[in-house]
Amino acid sequence: MPSYDPANIFAKILRGELPCHKVYEDDKVLAFLDIMPRAPGHTLVLPKAPARNLLDVKAEDLAAVAAVAQRIAKAAMTVFGADGITVQQFNEGAGGQVVFHLHVHVIPRKAGVPMKPPAIEKEKPEVLSDQALKLAAALKAS
Ligand code: AMP
Repeated sequence: MPSYDPANIFAKILRGELPCHKVYEDDKVLAFLDIMPRAPGHTLVLPKAPARNLLDVKAEDLAAVAAVAQRIAKAAMTVFGADGITVQQFNEGAGGQVVFHLHVHVIPRKAGVPMKPPAIEKEKPEVLSDQALKLAAALKAS
């Protein structure tokens, strides 16, 4: 497996070199909205420590990401009026991974509504800002 590349786009977001619609941050984890959401509220949860994917992440960083993903899933059920949550996590190109800093997708779902295809449509920044604020507020209250 190739080594971690600090020039990947999520590393730039983690360093503050690129913006994101942040929903949660602590000392180990950052979560922000996917700019091409497969459903409203589609959130990405990342460890702050460099890790390419599931194959090289430290167990403690993975555990921190999982705990935050669970909190976001619960909050998103209310904020987005979801009927369920899809969690996805891809590893290496063959596994569907496009950005090589570990991330877990938390995707709110409505019954009978299929997910949009991946990377098809950028959401409007004002829509993402509003959703991020609502989700962040629900997380703070949780
Ligand atoms: P994957 O590596 O296959 O799990 O997919 C990477 C995900 O990152 C896709 O869902 C993209 O829409 C999303 N993405 C790419 N660039 C950004 C960005 N700058 N901010 C938020 N999400 C992004």
